[in-house]
Amino acid sequence: MTRRLEASKALITGASSGIGAATARALAGQGAAVAIVARRKERLDQLTQEIGAAGGRALPIEADITDQAQAVAAVKRAADEFGGLDIVVNNAGVMLLGPAVDAPTAEWDQMVRINLLGLLYVTHAALPHLLAAAESGPRRVADLVNVSSVAGRVTRVGSGVYNLTKHGVGAFSDSLRQEVTRRHVRVSVIEPGAVATELATHLRPEILAQMRQRLGNVEMMQAEDIADAIEYIVSRPRHVAINELLIRPTEQEF
Ligand code: NDP
Repeated sequence: MTRRLEASKALITGASSGIGAATARALAGQGAAVAIVARRKERLDQLTQEIGAAGGRALPIEADITDQAQAVAAVKRAADEFGGLDIVVNNAGVMLLGPAVDAPTAEWDQMVRINLLGLLYVTHAALPHLLAAAESGPRRVADLVNVSSVAGRVTRVGSGVYNLTKHGVGAFSDSLRQEVTRRHVRVSVIEPGAVATELATHLRPEILAQMRQRLGNVEMMQAEDIADAIEYIVSRPRHVAINELLIRPTEQEF
């Protein structure tokens, strides 16, 4: 069977676990070279080996993308090594839920820095490469996929700052989409509901207990379900752009 992304060069942030790691496996499985970016180097090395053993090509890049210099260096390293980039998946993020009253504001800083600023830094650094690939690369189109959340569509008590960041991702993405779509850079937003990953492990114990109560009996999605959707988005024909994709577990009402 022909692989759909044979000539592609991708960069995926937050690829040391969860949705990012699954996306790296999926895109590499379709033939893309994948630059995998995160802070946990040993996880990236493991994934690089795994992708290599399956016949793919991965480039591990250790970076904290809340630091603009590191985000810029990560994009440059990937583009230098691969000779360009035609797919960027802004996936790195944290979800530190809890009421606004008496919230530890360090959690707010962290969410804004990674979910918004990290995404913006990577996007800014990657756009010239995506525009160049769309103009003269083999696919003649390029993809920027931003991972938002159901929390980017609906708000919930105790989720205000996470809602703020993910609504922000949606707003920025749609504005940027309008800016670059005539140049064949497709900007897509993906909005998952509950996915079984490490995301909730950073919650304070009382908040985790509340979340478990709310979602306890819902059969959650797996990271591969979201990776599959991202693979679908980036493998559409040049004239088709999936602007937004909301994906919930079947049993999740809202
Ligand atoms: P994980 O916790 O498994 O993955 C988060 C990733 O982000 C990790 O690879 C982590 O790597 C990376 N990351 C965090 N901070 C930084 C940083 N400063 N610099 C670089 N990388 C960083 O969770 P998910 O896979 O679930 O989360 C991925 C995305 O999906 C997030 O944006 C999340 O908001 C979104 N999402 C998840 C849902 C879910 O239910 N799981 C639902 C909706 C959206 P490291 O720690 O090694 O740096």
